[in-house]
Amino acid sequence: MPAAYNITDHSYDVVVVGAGGAGLRATLGMTIEGLRTACISKVFPTRSHTVAAQGGISAALGNIGPDDWRWHMYDTVKGSDWLGDQDAIEYMCRNAIPAVIELEHFGVPFSRTEDGRIYQRPFGGHMMEYGDGDPARRACAAADRTGHAIIHTLYQQCVRNNAEFFVEYFALDLIMDDEGACRGVMAWNLEDGSLHRFRAHLVVLATGGYGRTYFSCTSAHTCTGDGNAMVLRAGLPLQDMEFIQFHPTGIYGAGCLITEGARGEGGYLTSSEGVRFMEAYAPHAKDLASRDVVSRAMTIEIREGRGCGPEKDHILLHLEHLSPEVLHQRLPGISETAKIFAGVDVMREPIPVLPTVHYNMGGIPTNHHGEVLRPTADEPDATVPGLMAIGEAASVSVHGANRLGCNSLLDIVVFGRAAAHRAAELVRPGTPQKPMSNGAGEEAMARLDAVRQSRGPRKTAEIRLDMQRVMQTNCAVFRTAEVLREGVSRIDVVANSYGDLGISDRSMIWNTDLVEALELENLLEQAVVTLHSAENRTESRGAHAREDYPERDDRNWMKHTLAWLDGDAGVKLGDRPVHLFTLSNEVQSFPPKARVY
Ligand SMILES: Cc1cc2nc3c(=O)[nH]c(=O)nc-3n(C[C@H](O)[C@H](O)[C@H](O)COP(=O)(O)OP(=O)(O)OC[C@H]3O[C@@H](n4cnc5c(N)ncnc54)[C@H](O)[C@@H]3O)c2cc1C
Repeated sequence: MPAAYNITDHSYDVVVVGAGGAGLRATLGMTIEGLRTACISKVFPTRSHTVAAQGGISAALGNIGPDDWRWHMYDTVKGSDWLGDQDAIEYMCRNAIPAVIELEHFGVPFSRTEDGRIYQRPFGGHMMEYGDGDPARRACAAADRTGHAIIHTLYQQCVRNNAEFFVEYFALDLIMDDEGACRGVMAWNLEDGSLHRFRAHLVVLATGGYGRTYFSCTSAHTCTGDGNAMVLRAGLPLQDMEFIQFHPTGIYGAGCLITEGARGEGGYLTSSEGVRFMEAYAPHAKDLASRDVVSRAMTIEIREGRGCGPEKDHILLHLEHLSPEVLHQRLPGISETAKIFAGVDVMREPIPVLPTVHYNMGGIPTNHHGEVLRPTADEPDATVPGLMAIGEAASVSVHGANRLGCNSLLDIVVFGRAAAHRAAELVRPGTPQKPMSNGAGEEAMARLDAVRQSRGPRKTAEIRLDMQRVMQTNCAVFRTAEVLREGVSRIDVVANSYGDLGISDRSMIWNTDLVEALELENLLEQAVVTLHSAENRTESRGAHAREDYPERDDRNWMKHTLAWLDGDAGVKLGDRPVHLFTLSNEVQSFPPKARVY
C-alpha cells in the first residue's frame, strides 16, 4: 500500500452507500430495526438526484378513479416488454399502496383532491382494466416536485431517528473476501482528505444511475453509477445494461426534463405540420403511450423531415391550452424550467423538446429482497453474501426493457424498505465482525493512488467527451449491427485512452479533479459493458430498438443479459432466465403478447 495513506477503521452492522431516496429509505428502516447503520454519500443527502424527480410516484390508491394493483402490475409487465421479473413486479405493485401511505404518514406534502385525499394524475403506460380501459390516475404527486418532497421527508425522518451519516465521503471500492463475500467498503473523506475502511455485515449499494455516460441526459452530474462500477471491479456481473431509457421531453439543447406529468395534465406533441402525430403511432394511449414508444415516434417524425425549427430537429410540446390554474398548481416547476432553459412562456408558446437519456433499466442484478445475485448456470439466482443493491443502481428487475413513469420513485421506496426488512432477518445487531486481513482495501488505495499520480497527456474532460459522443451516436434510440459494432470498437479505444490520463491537482482535500477522474473510470466501465450488451442482443425489446431486428424474439431473447468486465479479457457475456412466475395466488403471471398502446 502506498506509504503516505493512513486509514481510519469503522465497524457497523450495515453500511449503506448512497443517500438518494433508496439509500435514505433503507437507512431509515435499518436504523429503526436497531441495526447500527452508516450511510455514506458523496453529496449532501438532499442533493441526490432523487430531489429532481418531478411527476410522481405510482400506486393504485384509486383516489380519483377506479384502480387495482393487479392492473398496475399488468402495465408494468407490459411496459417492461416482458423482460421484468413478475415476482418482483407483483411485490412492488402490491406494496406500492402501503409504501405511499407510509410516506404520507412520514410527512410527504402530497397535493390534495377537494376531499383531502392524495392527488393522482395519469402517466404514460398506466391504464385501467389490464390495458383495455382509459388512462388510470395512478401517479401520486406533490405538484411537479415529488422527488423534492420525498427526499426531504425521508432525510428528516432519518435525522429524527438518529441515523448516522458520513457526508461528502466518496466510496471507492468494495472489500471482498476470498470466499466472494462482501465485508465492507473503502471511502475517501473529501473534506479532510482522510481514508476510511468501513467493515460491515452488509453493504447496500444505493448509488443511482449512470446517465452521464451520454452527452445529453436529464440526470445530475453526480449520476456516474459508481456502485455499478464497484460491482464490475469485484468480478460480479451487471444485468440488462443495453436498456437505456430516453425520455421524450428533454428541453431541446439544455436536456433538462419536462415531466411526463405535463402530458398527464393534457399536454400534447406536434410535428412541424402541426399534426398530433402520436394518434397514428398509439391510437389508444396517444401522447400517454410508454416512453420508448413516444421517443421512437418523435425520432421517426424528425427523420422523415417533419421536425420543427430552422434545423427541423426537434418536436413541440404544447401546454398553452391548459388553464393557468392547472399550470400554476400542478406544473409550477416545469413552467419555471421552460422559462429559464428554453426562454418559453408555457402559457403562450410550445416548448421545443427532444428525446433525452433519462434512466438506466440495467444495473446490479438482485432478488426482490435487494440481495445481489451471483448467477451461475446451475444457480441463476445465487446470492452474494454481505451485498445488497437498491434503487436505480439495481436491476431487480421490475422495469425490464423499459420503465414506466413514476415506477422509479416507487421502486426506491419499496425496495429500500424491503432491504431493511431483509437486513433485520440476516444480521443480529452488534454481532462481532469476522477477522479481516490487514491488507483489506489495499487494491482500492492503489487504484486511487495511480489516478492521483497520473501524468499522461489527456485530461478527464477530453476523455469524457469522447465517451459521451460515442454513446450519443452509437447507442441511441435506434440501433443497427453496423452502428453498434462501430460503437464497440470506438468505446474500447476510448476506455483504453484512460491509460493516457493526467491530472494536475495531487492534493487529497476537496480534489474535484481526482473525483471527476475516478467517476470517469466508473463511467467508462459501464459504457463498455452497455455497448457490448447492446451489440449482442439481436432483437427489439422495450428501449432497445434494432432496425435490423425490428421484432421481439421471445424464443431466443426472453432472458436477462449478464456482462462481466474481466481486465485483459474484456467483456464476458452470459444470461439468466426471466421470472415468469408470481409470488402469490392472488394474481396469475401475464404471458407475453404483442405490445400495442
Ligand atoms: C430529472 C428527473 C426526474 C425524474 N422524475 C421522476 C418521477 O417523477 N417519478 C419517478 O418515479 N422517477 C423519476 N425519475 C427517476 C428517479 O428519480 C430516480 O431513478 C431515482 O430517484 C434514483 O434514486 P436512487 O436513490 O437510486 O439514486 P440517487 O437519487 O441518484 O442517489 C444516489 C446516491 O448515491 C450517492 N453516491 C453515488 N456514488 C457514490 C460514491 N462513490 N460514494 C458515496 N456516495 C455515492 C450519491 O451521493 C447519492 O446520495 C426522475 C429522474 C430524473 C433525472
